[in-house]
Amino acid sequence: MDRPISLTDPQREPAADARGTAPFEADLAAAGGTLVDPDFLLTPMAVCRMIYVDGKPTDWLHLYVNRVWQEQRPDTTFVGKLASELFPGIVDLDREVLETFARVAAGGPPERFTRYLRSAREWFDVQTYSRRPGYFVAVFEVVSERIERERILHDAQRRLSLAQSLSRSGIWDWDIPDGKVFWTPEMYRLLGLDPETSEASFDTWRAVLEPADLAAAEERINSSVASRMPLFNEYRVRWPDGQTRWLRAYGDTIHDDAGVPRRMLGLCIDVTDLKHLSQQAADANAASLAKSAFLATMSHELRTPLNSIIGFTTLILDGLVGELNPEQVKQLTIVKRSGEQLLELISDILDIAKVESGGLALRQAAVPLRALLHEQCEALQPVAAGRGIALELTECAEQLTVNADSRRLSQVIRNLLANAVKFTDEGSVRIRVTKLESTVRIDVEDSGIGIAPEELQRIFTPFRRSDDPRSASRTGTGLGLSISRSLVLAMGGDLAVESRPGQGSVFSVTLATGAEAGA
Ligand code: ADP
Repeated sequence: MDRPISLTDPQREPAADARGTAPFEADLAAAGGTLVDPDFLLTPMAVCRMIYVDGKPTDWLHLYVNRVWQEQRPDTTFVGKLASELFPGIVDLDREVLETFARVAAGGPPERFTRYLRSAREWFDVQTYSRRPGYFVAVFEVVSERIERERILHDAQRRLSLAQSLSRSGIWDWDIPDGKVFWTPEMYRLLGLDPETSEASFDTWRAVLEPADLAAAEERINSSVASRMPLFNEYRVRWPDGQTRWLRAYGDTIHDDAGVPRRMLGLCIDVTDLKHLSQQAADANAASLAKSAFLATMSHELRTPLNSIIGFTTLILDGLVGELNPEQVKQLTIVKRSGEQLLELISDILDIAKVESGGLALRQAAVPLRALLHEQCEALQPVAAGRGIALELTECAEQLTVNADSRRLSQVIRNLLANAVKFTDEGSVRIRVTKLESTVRIDVEDSGIGIAPEELQRIFTPFRRSDDPRSASRTGTGLGLSISRSLVLAMGGDLAVESRPGQGSVFSVTLATGAEAGA
């Protein structure tokens, strides 16, 4: 009879007093009654007698095991064996098992337990009951494989939920033919929805999506399904509190054997902060480039008229337009000096802008060092002499070259020498050159006011000047060292400083040896 019996099936007759058992008794007897033949069961079972010593349960003896258990352990003879013989150590290692059977054998109610038997090294699921004091029946199954599977599943679930909660990612699962959607609680939260009151569906999703992003987001999903390419989607959603959040979804489609798309599974994260950061970075970069471009143009525009002012002042001072009285010479000299200072400042600002915008073009070559240093010393000699300071270039080998841009290296040395002279009231300024293995070190050493340890790194910051009053009283913009260091770094070298307040400073430029010298 294939037809299943339903509650309204006429074959269940007599339905009128279906609650009574009497009408089925004959039928039941014909079916062989309720007696169970243990040898037909597919579940192992054993009948045992409890062994007592001094009235205490100590072990149990197997009186019978059914066929399936015997078939599962063909090499073991159970009947007539004590549990401790079959599973050495069971009485001590698995004390609770003995205690459970003892309770049942002593007339207790049936019990069920699932536990790992250390003596057998297997998981057992056991039901036990007793029909006569001192005896018990155990119906059981070895469930190690199931437990192991459950453990693996449980571990995987724990890892997954940990990953989800730590990464705040939501999982979505779309049954394509049915159109049904499943969301994890985090997925609702990402969409700004309450899992208790909202229903997971495409309509719900559409309703929270920023209308301007909807068409593109749907298109990306459809084309991912059609092209069998993984989904990468980004869209904005509106939360009930008015916030707009950016979500990013990754997904993949599962197809059946016939190639029909069945499910799309994916993960969703909130990338609002990331979006803001990258926007800020892009804005900052654009602003910095705009500032550098502006400074470069401005500096150029300022220099042209300034050169005229200096040029014509020089002409007048040279007497080319007539005699000047001493007061006129004095005042025009101030105009000229101020003009030159302004020009220097503008050149510095232009350099800073070029360095920051990456627009600094260097012409690296093997630069003969001695000539370059000599020239810079000569140029500064009058200023040093005016301050009563000895300025000298100590030994520097004639053929020594460094890998540098000659014009920019001159600028760096000029700046270091000018600082050394400016911040030294008595004593000397020296340039010393040391050839190292593959580099050359140029030390500009003075016996000046020195720099406090806490100022040492700060002085390389643009516009930063030492707080020391002996330094602050001297003219300057605080740009020279910043530019010098950037230039030396751009030439592949380094600029370092060592100093002791009151004793002097040493600024050291290290550069790679020039090609000829290094060869
Ligand atoms: P400026 O000399 O125009 O102030 P710099 O960038 O060249 O700018 O130097 C920054 C600061 O570093 C100076 O203001 C000064 O406080 C300190 N400094 C630079 N060189 C020396 C030096 N040789 N001795 C003492 N202090 C120095």
